[in-house]
Amino acid sequence: MTLDTQARQPIDRSTCSALDAADPLAHFRERFVLPDGVVYLDGNSLGALPRATASHVARVVTEEWGQGLIRSWNDAGWFEKPLVLGDRIAPLIGGAPGEVTLGDSTSASLFQAVVAAARLRPGRRAIVAERGNFPTDLYVLESVQELLGGDAPLERRLIADDGPTLAEVLDEDVAVVVLTHVDYRTGRMHDLAEVTRQVHEAGAIVVWDLCHSVGAVPVELNAAGADFAVGCTYKYLNGGPGSPSFIWVAARHQAEARPALTGWHGHARPFAFELGYAPAEGIGRFRVGTPQLLALAGLEASLELWAEVDLEALREKSLRLTELFISLVDARLGAWDVEVVTPRQSARRGSQVSLRIGAADGYAVMQALIDGGVIGDFRAPDLVRFGFAPLYVSHADVCDAVDALEDVLASGRWREPRFARRGLVT
Ligand SMILES: *Cc1c(COP(=O)(O)O)cnc(C)c1O
Repeated sequence: MTLDTQARQPIDRSTCSALDAADPLAHFRERFVLPDGVVYLDGNSLGALPRATASHVARVVTEEWGQGLIRSWNDAGWFEKPLVLGDRIAPLIGGAPGEVTLGDSTSASLFQAVVAAARLRPGRRAIVAERGNFPTDLYVLESVQELLGGDAPLERRLIADDGPTLAEVLDEDVAVVVLTHVDYRTGRMHDLAEVTRQVHEAGAIVVWDLCHSVGAVPVELNAAGADFAVGCTYKYLNGGPGSPSFIWVAARHQAEARPALTGWHGHARPFAFELGYAPAEGIGRFRVGTPQLLALAGLEASLELWAEVDLEALREKSLRLTELFISLVDARLGAWDVEVVTPRQSARRGSQVSLRIGAADGYAVMQALIDGGVIGDFRAPDLVRFGFAPLYVSHADVCDAVDALEDVLASGRWREPRFARRGLVT
């Protein structure tokens, strides 16, 4: 043991327990399966398993598939399932019924949305995105630039938190602006209403990526007058690994919007098996092919739970958790040159906190933490990331996580060679 560890006093637990005792959302924690001895702070990558999910999925498998067989397309409502569940996602993002459908990966949904958005602004030749965007968003844009560009690819203009700003790149040549509401690395949150207003002022269309927003912070798409949005359901919404992404299209755009992928489930009369494509009315045209019904079953179970959640209370708890974490980091980890990268101003913060650790290798620190049961993740090149899913993370978890982090740093345990080995997924 080093002198540091001997001198270390664990965090006083009374504050955390008092906050947990007063937490109006505390009861949701029992609705999730959480392994013993684990503090789970990675619900922003893969949400925890709701207790109700396993039996619901089993029922869909054994009854709807096993017994119902092909009849379940009608009898169990399989055909309409992406729209029915889409309507349950709508209130979580400030959308209306008939504005959301489900069924691909976020990457594919983003492709659908950006192509449809760009086609609403023919003649404009630039797309604006963010340097800090989740890479898949930028990769997808590359093919959109090529596909819609004609003789030469559409121009891509990148903004960043340290400039250029949106105002600097917006002009009458910009067709679409594609932004992630809450930055996956830093947790920085855009002002959705203000940015939407700015984009519209330039006559462009905005596509929001809500992967780190839905189920984490209240989102008000219609109040902001937004155009398109996409997002994951396996992060804060707890739909399970590989649960389908959603796409939201403002009702006012639906009649005119032409999806990139014109598949039979988006056809006006899919079972007429006509020769040509005719788009379905409304959001249904953004469906592509056969929905992933087993994956949707996992999501269906978690959305039952989400229907009970007060999103304002969710946000209040999220801010309490992240503020507590930041204040404990400030108070205890200064010796290791730990920088809080996430904005301290609550209006600019999602539900995660990312740290840069000057005096240690962040990747190895996270591996050592995971080894000790505190699960967060690492985002290259140097960010140690902690997600606070308000439905099942407690204030005691926050105290335990900071204690564990201080212990890993003070003991130097992160230096063990096994913690430097990189897995395929970080
Ligand atoms: C997680 C995430 C994705 C994931 O895309 P998939 O195609 O569902 O794998 C996309 N964008 C952002 C901003 C994300 O955080």
